Amino acid sequence: MNEQALYESVVNLKGVGDKTAALFTKCNIKNVGDLIHYYPRAYDEYSDIVRVCDARIGEIVTVRCVITGSITNRHVRNLSILNFSASDITGQIKFTYFNMPYLRSSLRAGKYYIFRGMLQQKASTLVMEQAQIFKDDEYAAISGSMQPRYPLVKGLTNNMVIKVMKQALMLSAGLLDSLPEDIIKSEGFVSHSEAVRNIHFPASKDKLLKAHDRLAFEEFFFFILKVRQLKNQADESINTHKMIETADIPRLLDSLPYKLTLTQLKIWDEIKNDMAGSHVMNRLIQGDVGSGKTILAFLSLLMTAANGYQGAIMAPTEVLACQHYDGFMEMKEKYNLPINPVLLIGSLTAKQKKLAQEKIAMGEYNLIVGTNALMQEKVSYKNLALVVTDEQHRFGVRQRSLLAGKGQDCHILAMSATPIPRTLAIILYGDLHISILNEMPGGRLPIKNCVVGTNYRPTAYKFIAEQISKGHQAYVICPMIEEGEMEGLENVTDYTKTLQNALGSSVRVEMLHGKMKGNVKDELMDEFSKGNIDVLVSTTVIEVGINVPNATVMMIENAERFGLAQLHQLRGRVGRGSSQSYCIFINTSDTENARQRLDIMNHSNDGFKIAEEDLKQRGPGDFFGIRQSGDLSFEVADIYSDSDMLKKASMYADDILREDPDLTSEKYKVLRPAVFPDGVNSFDFTTL
Ligand code: ADP
Ligand code: MG
Repeated sequence: MNEQALYESVVNLKGVGDKTAALFTKCNIKNVGDLIHYYPRAYDEYSDIVRVCDARIGEIVTVRCVITGSITNRHVRNLSILNFSASDITGQIKFTYFNMPYLRSSLRAGKYYIFRGMLQQKASTLVMEQAQIFKDDEYAAISGSMQPRYPLVKGLTNNMVIKVMKQALMLSAGLLDSLPEDIIKSEGFVSHSEAVRNIHFPASKDKLLKAHDRLAFEEFFFFILKVRQLKNQADESINTHKMIETADIPRLLDSLPYKLTLTQLKIWDEIKNDMAGSHVMNRLIQGDVGSGKTILAFLSLLMTAANGYQGAIMAPTEVLACQHYDGFMEMKEKYNLPINPVLLIGSLTAKQKKLAQEKIAMGEYNLIVGTNALMQEKVSYKNLALVVTDEQHRFGVRQRSLLAGKGQDCHILAMSATPIPRTLAIILYGDLHISILNEMPGGRLPIKNCVVGTNYRPTAYKFIAEQISKGHQAYVICPMIEEGEMEGLENVTDYTKTLQNALGSSVRVEMLHGKMKGNVKDELMDEFSKGNIDVLVSTTVIEVGINVPNATVMMIENAERFGLAQLHQLRGRVGRGSSQSYCIFINTSDTENARQRLDIMNHSNDGFKIAEEDLKQRGPGDFFGIRQSGDLSFEVADIYSDSDMLKKASMYADDILREDPDLTSEKYKVLRPAVFPDGVNSFDFTTL
C-alpha cells in the first residue's frame, strides 16, 4: 500500500466534516495513521439469544420479547422515564429508559424486538435499564461478533468511530510490517495489518488474542530497543556539572524532624555519587506512595543550587507543583538554605511569568518548580544542571526531552510511584540506574481495609459522614464518567448526586474526572486540599501523587475492575496524616478470582508485594476488562498480563543488538526508523 495514506487527514474520510474532525482532534487523531492506532478499550460480545428463564441475573444478555401492555412515559423533575413490559413464553422483564421519550412512538405493543442489556432483579421483578433494541435482521447481522468500544468524547459516538475506522482500515490495508521477518516467522505472529484489523473488528476471540499478542510484542520490543539505545548514548555523556556535597546537606539532615530511613540514605548516596561522577546522572527512583521521595529530590536540588547551578522539578499538575513549592519555601526559611525557588505554572499572569523568566535567565532563581509551562520555548536557563521529574510516568517522552534539552547534558532524576516488580523493571530497563525505595518511614498508622459488597453502601455513607463530622475528608472512586459508558459500572456523574442526597446539603460533594478542563480540575483539587470540599467523587485521575493528609477515607466502587497496582495507588491518597485512615473496596462481582485479588489488598499495604502477587495471579487474556497498568504508556500491552511477551521481546532485542548494534544489516535495518527517530539523541527515561 501507499504509506502516504497514513498521513491522509481524517477530514478526507466519508462522513467526517469539520465538526467531527474537531472531535477527533480532541482524541489526538488527525490522520488515518492516528485513527488506526486508536484502539478499543473493550468489546461488546453479541451473544446468542437466550430464553428469559435461562438469562443470568447480573450479566449482559440478549432476549427476544414481545411488548405486552402499554408503553408509559412520565416525568420526575428533569428526568423522563419510559416503561414497558415485554416477555417471551418463559418469562417477563420490565424495561426502563431514561430521557428517551421518543421510543414511545417508535416501539409498538404486540411486536417482537431483541433487547440486549444488563439483567437485574428488583424485588421479584426482572428489570433491564437502557437496553439496546434491535430488529431481527439487525441483530442477525452482528450476532456472534465482537464489536469495539472506543474511548469517546462528548459529541462523538461509538458508531461514528466504527464507521470511520472501517474506511481507515481499508485505506491502510497491506500496511508495511515493522518487525523483521525472522521474528514473525519463528513466533508465528500474524502480520501487522492483520493484527490492526482484528484489534478493531475481531473475526473471533482467538483472532483478537493473536492480534493482541502481536501488537503487545511490538510495543515492548521497540520500547526495549529504544531504552537500550538511549542507555548506550547516556553512558557516553561526560558529566560537565560535577558537584560536591556542601555543609548545608548534613546540617539539613540533622535538623529535619525525622531521620532518613536507611534506604533513603542509600539512595541519596547513589545520587551524590552520580552527580559527582564522570558521567551524567540518569536515575529512576521507584518508590511506593508515601515512601518519601520528595526529600530525596529536594536534597538533590539543594546540592545543585549550593554548587552554583540551577535545578528544576517538574510535576504533572499545578496542584502538585504548588505543593512542592510551598514545602521547599518552608524548608528554605526554617533551615536558612541557599536556595531561591520560583514557581512557574500556567496560571500565572503574563506579567508574573515574564518576570520569573527574566530572573531564571539571569540565574537569580536557582530552584525552578513547575509544570508544562517550564517547557515553553521562552524559558531559558542560565546554567541548568539537574532536572527532576516527579510522578514521571505521567509525562510524554517528548515533553521531557524538550526540557532536558534546555541544559547541556543535564542530570536527570526521575521519580515514579508505580511499583513494578523488580524482575519486570530489569527486563524493561536493562541495566539502567534504578533505585528502589521499598522502606516506609516509621511511625505511621497502617490503613485499615475492608472488602465488602454493595449492600454495605449505606453503612459506608454513614461512616463517611462520621469522619466528615470529625473534620476529615473522603474520596470515592468510580470507574466511569457518565451513564451508559459501560453497563454495570458506577459513574461519577450519577454517583455524585446519589452521595450528595445521602449525605445531606451540609456536606459538600464534588465530582472530578479526566474530561474536565485542566484548570477546572486543578481548582477542584485545590479546593479539596484546602478542605473546602468534603467528598471528592472521582475517576482515577486523582491517582497522581496528591497529598491531602486530612483525607481519611478512600472508597472504591467496582473495585474488582481495577488492577491491584492501581488500587494500591488510589489507596495511597489516604493514610498520609496522623489520624487513622480507612479504605473501603466495594466488590460488585461474585467471582472467586475477584474475591482472591481483593483479598490481597485487604491484607497488605505493601506496593511491591502487591505487584508481585498481581503478577502471580493474573494470566494472559485478562485484557477484556479495564486496562490494568493504564498509566504506563503502552497502548495495548500490559506489563503484567503480557509478561510472557515482555520476556520474549527483551530476548529478541538483546540478541539483535548484540549481533548488529547499529541496526545496519539488511535484516534489521527495517528497525532503524523506529529506534533512531529523526536523529533525536537526548537521553530520557521513556516511560514508567
Ligand atoms: P512520596 O514518595 O509519595 O512522594 P512524600 O515524599 O510526599 O512521599 O512523603 C510523604 C510524607 O512522609 C511527607 O510528609 C514527608 O515529610 C514524610 N517523610 C519522608 N521521609 C520520612 C522519614 N524518613 N521519616 C518520617 N517521615 C518521612
Ligand atoms: Mg510524591
